[in-house]
Amino acid sequence: MTVRTRIAPSPTGDPHVGTAYIALFNLCFARQHGGQFVLRIEDTDRVRSTAESEQMILDSMRWLGLEWDEGPDVGGPHGPYRQSERGDIYAQYAQQLIDSGHAFKCYRTSEELDQLREARKAAGMHLALKPSDLALDAAEVARREQEGWPHVVRMQVPSEGVCVVEDMLRGRIEVEWSQVDAQILLKSDGMPTYHLANVVDDHLMGITHVLRGEEWINSAPKHQLLYEYLGWEMPVLCHMPLLRNPDKSKLSKRKNPTSINYYRRMGFLPQAVTNYLGRMGWSMPDEREKFSLDEMLASFDIQRVSLGGPVFDLEKLTWLNGVYIREDLDDTAFLQALREWAFNEDYARQIIPQVRPRVETLSQVMPLAGHFFAGLPAIDQASFASVKLEQETLVKLLQFLTWRLEVVPAWNKESLQGEVQLLAEHFELKMKAFLAPVFIAITGSTTSTSVLHGMVILGSDMTRARLRHAIEVLGGVSKKQTKRFEKEFRDIG
Ligand code: GLU
Repeated sequence: MTVRTRIAPSPTGDPHVGTAYIALFNLCFARQHGGQFVLRIEDTDRVRSTAESEQMILDSMRWLGLEWDEGPDVGGPHGPYRQSERGDIYAQYAQQLIDSGHAFKCYRTSEELDQLREARKAAGMHLALKPSDLALDAAEVARREQEGWPHVVRMQVPSEGVCVVEDMLRGRIEVEWSQVDAQILLKSDGMPTYHLANVVDDHLMGITHVLRGEEWINSAPKHQLLYEYLGWEMPVLCHMPLLRNPDKSKLSKRKNPTSINYYRRMGFLPQAVTNYLGRMGWSMPDEREKFSLDEMLASFDIQRVSLGGPVFDLEKLTWLNGVYIREDLDDTAFLQALREWAFNEDYARQIIPQVRPRVETLSQVMPLAGHFFAGLPAIDQASFASVKLEQETLVKLLQFLTWRLEVVPAWNKESLQGEVQLLAEHFELKMKAFLAPVFIAITGSTTSTSVLHGMVILGSDMTRARLRHAIEVLGGVSKKQTKRFEKEFRDIG
């Protein structure tokens, strides 16, 4: 048997460090067994998936040196490698499951589903809707079908007993069937859900081992059942421990930068980031902290993964990056790293239109545009002295903007302007007054290039990190304030 592993990211946002971490372990596992590593794009969520996000994922995996053998850009014998291009395949298997009685069309409306859940809640039962809850009598099904009501396809699931799933690291995992709902397989628009598409593709792509984050454990019983229904052998499962913030909470972009773009923009070296990801729950036999991808590949053993939540600690990563700069780069290599980072024509071309109209001599460029070549600006409370806003309003303004920017669908001047306008109205401020503290947070100064253009060039992660940094130097947001802020924030358009 040839070992085949895969990474299956959904292109719905920034390229996440968690994706790179899982990719790294899949790559190592495949290589250790002389196998192949596949990259598949799970873009069945047509509303949230974007081509830009897909491109960023591919770029950042490559930047980290995590190369795949088959994928949407390099092709391969099991393509297409983008789920949006495989629609017919899923519909065919959904039909097969209906024909064999393992799945059923469900015509329930969302109001009915709410009522059913309420009823289960009132009876003190688990909220998972079971096939028996959803059943309608045959005449009603026929009526709804004839009248063309929208429907989904759901899978049959047992109502009682225990499902046992084997995990390469965790051994036996037991889940009560009563907690497992009659999962939707095909949505009313005919698109598959993650569960159906994932199982079908893993099988058709010959995946033998699925290494993925522990957040997917609850899906395992459904997947196991689907393999059984379809008469296929299930890949070996391995649920990797989730990355955590230093306070042990789940790594999330609200607390820490989670996008690879941020680390790249911040001037981390790809080899240091990959090395650090290799330290997440895993160690070299001799426990050394610094090792290359090749060294990791040579010593890899999945059983050395420890399940205690690995902490992704920015300070440790920064330390390790420094070690790489001092030990591995000579002057020439360092210059090359600078070029790849920001001292290149591509980047300069983005900045020049912002700078040229604002200078009289070339030597004024760096003082004006230095923040484009920097991380977090050196600011403190006093930096905001010129802003005529109450402290709480000031912090709230920066916090609201950060929250809005976490979910802004497109990172360009128009949409950022839209966000700023909306919030300026909410705070009853003129655009200029609203932007004054933002300007300081982003550029670190009261005179610089245009702040909105700057945010576009700096990218979403660096922008949000600078806003978060400003909030911190202004004293941060207490738990109580957060509650109040969230309430007010929800009411904004
Ligand atoms: N599309 C899923 C994700 O975004 C894949 C999960 C899996 O590996 O099965 O992570």
